[in-house]
Amino acid sequence: MHRPYNFCAGPAALPEAVLTRAAGEMLDWHGTGMSFMEMSHRSGEVVSTVEAAESSLRRLLGIGDEFAVLFVQGGATSQFAGVPMNLGGVGKPFAYVNTGQWSAKAMAEASRYGDVVEVAAASKELPCAIPEQESWASADDAAYLHFTPNETIDGIEFHWVPESQAPVVADMSSTLLSRPIAVDDFDVIYAGAQKNIGPAGLVILIVRRELYGRTLSSCPSMMNWEVTDKAGSMLNTPPTYSIYLAGLVFEWLEAQGGLAAMAERNRKKATSLYAAIDESGFYGNPVAVADRSWMNVPFTLADAELDKVFLKEAETAGLLNLKGHRSVGGMRASIYNAIPQAAVDALVEFMQDFERKHA
Ligand code: PMP
Repeated sequence: MHRPYNFCAGPAALPEAVLTRAAGEMLDWHGTGMSFMEMSHRSGEVVSTVEAAESSLRRLLGIGDEFAVLFVQGGATSQFAGVPMNLGGVGKPFAYVNTGQWSAKAMAEASRYGDVVEVAAASKELPCAIPEQESWASADDAAYLHFTPNETIDGIEFHWVPESQAPVVADMSSTLLSRPIAVDDFDVIYAGAQKNIGPAGLVILIVRRELYGRTLSSCPSMMNWEVTDKAGSMLNTPPTYSIYLAGLVFEWLEAQGGLAAMAERNRKKATSLYAAIDESGFYGNPVAVADRSWMNVPFTLADAELDKVFLKEAETAGLLNLKGHRSVGGMRASIYNAIPQAAVDALVEFMQDFERKHA
């Protein structure tokens, strides 16, 4: 027997092996007689665990020393402010690519700190598509160019990286660790943990150190990347248990064969789900084929009246959290690293059965 398959967009399913290990270590971490969450963040055990998590992440993504890896708090949303506060001190506007709801939220928050310029936007007409960079306004004279490689709600994903003279900043909350990336193509990467990394609240930041010194003078110390870096992500008490758990996820990923292996699995999972949708004539996906997300697959039923029945029957079949975001309706299957092919196969089979019964 397996647990039900959880297609939640976040907080999302974590690898069962990681949860089992954490459960086994809960009361007595490595013979200390303490839970990891009961230990001082200044203790050798915690400091070395945080360092090991960082090293593992550096190996997975191939992150060089010119980048800091920071563990911070406040969710990805806090970095919607953190980005302009850390890079906005150069007196230039902030450039944003608006491909969906998370881009829009990031832009709205940044506009509190300076002038925001939308250099490009995803098409409003169906299918939703990311315009080619040739058609964008230039961001070269901006303080930075911000984009959202994967729009968790809209299911739109960049399968390429924009180029700019300005520092390239990416909110990778729902795609980091789903595949290898060339970290060098970016200047700042941030990601809330609750999809492919670990518990909500924790944020991973990868920052090109060269960019320090562009901070707004009003930036609080807790939001200041350089200050956080100098303090080894321990300016205050960090979310130690979340970092420990993220470290277990990184270890698990390395044991699976790293990000190339995950990419292969994720591509297969997404391909089989999109194929089922496209071949059905009953289900639909609103995104242009080239820009479809590997992680979040929104889909609609031919008759929205059937949505409730679909969700109820899915739940009975052990397929949980398929309801689309409250702002868009329909369905969404989030198929992060911890979701096996078997879960997608079960979903596809369920969808085909449902179509036979209700079409
Ligand atoms: N950016 C993206 C792309 C997201 O998917 C989310 C959360 N779903 C956020 C930002 C916000 O993250 P948090 O709730 O951790 O602030």
